[in-house]
Amino acid sequence: MTYIASRLSIVKPSASMAVSQAAKALRARGVDVIDLGLGEPDFPTPAHIIEAAHAAAKAGETLYTAATGTPALREAVASKFRRENGLDYTADDIIVANGAKQIIFNALMATLEPGDEVILPAPYFVSYPEMVKLLGGTPVIAECPGDAGFRLTPEVLEAAITPRSKWLFLNMPGNPSGAVYSEDELKALGTVLAKHPQVLILSDEIYEHILFDGRSFLSFGKACPELRDRTLIVNGVAKAYAMTGWRVGYAAGPQPLIKAMATVQSQSVTSVCAIAQAAAVAALNGPQDMVAEFRAAFERRRNLVVDGLAGMNGVTLSPPEGAFYAYIGCAGLIGRKTPKGVVLNDDAAVATYLLEEGRVAAVPGAAYGLSPYFRISTATADAVLTEAIARIKAAISELE
Ligand code: PMP
Repeated sequence: MTYIASRLSIVKPSASMAVSQAAKALRARGVDVIDLGLGEPDFPTPAHIIEAAHAAAKAGETLYTAATGTPALREAVASKFRRENGLDYTADDIIVANGAKQIIFNALMATLEPGDEVILPAPYFVSYPEMVKLLGGTPVIAECPGDAGFRLTPEVLEAAITPRSKWLFLNMPGNPSGAVYSEDELKALGTVLAKHPQVLILSDEIYEHILFDGRSFLSFGKACPELRDRTLIVNGVAKAYAMTGWRVGYAAGPQPLIKAMATVQSQSVTSVCAIAQAAAVAALNGPQDMVAEFRAAFERRRNLVVDGLAGMNGVTLSPPEGAFYAYIGCAGLIGRKTPKGVVLNDDAAVATYLLEEGRVAAVPGAAYGLSPYFRISTATADAVLTEAIARIKAAISELE
């Protein structure tokens, strides 16, 4: 199609959304598929948040808001950073966008020159490299193998930095690996970054509340305060409050960056939906007990998956430390033959086999920049996860 801009030619649609589409297509043909492709909490948004949205709509909060977000929401975000992260930001240091994804897009749009490099520790969130490419940047993949806990080390970071490095992206707990960093590990990365003042840091902390085994969360901003003037802390209400569809994300950072992001925002989407912003205020300022309840449910499901896969032939999983995914190693399945005679050459072939023969939709590791793995979302009812594991096991047992 000649009318499509060339900048789109190197950008892939979201792999997890593509897997979900494939699962839906099979379902439409009457096949009973379990979709573990997309990651979103399966809980309803808590009632008091929905009530706040209803009240805001009835009270006439139905107009455009400031591009950076309503004062009430930016104040609520500033209090959240103080209360939960020990970070001191004012409402002027904060911007609200349509999801953490749009925050990241705006930040890249506001800063990338053609050829600027963005360092992405792999495995990474599927949208990072595609956004970078869409905006003319060059993703630089820093592989973080499973035997190193999927964490970026100072050595790998140092080797990835060049004079063209514009950003380092960190994501903790990580999607898809669940990896989190200790204070010492973050400080060690900070020591490397201190030597390279051209590098901005984007810390995507959207899964901060979904942490297991009694861990507590440490923001990159708290661990490395000396880098504050080039750090953007990204977060949102989607995962913590079961609000993916409300589309509210936020960030705190240096004012020149926030201002440039606000310009991008005002000339593209104007503002976030006023009613969704009122709902986000209720989420951040209201009772927090359901955040702990969601967390506990995700830990129970994490355990269920870890136990279910333990000892399963050909696959490996060390317990994810946070987030709601299992990034399952499948090196032991590569080279094996399906009952139809297909050799599983890579993790894409494994995911296709699991979908078509196992009736479980999972996303191949290739989409996250580290193979051979496949990712399943554990944000699903316990009984569904149990059935999915049984299906994966049955499908694997059919391999030669
Ligand atoms: N960052 C990461 C690491 C994610 O996994 C996701 C959602 N899958 C997002 C950002 C997007 O969050 P939002 O829904 O707020 O755009």
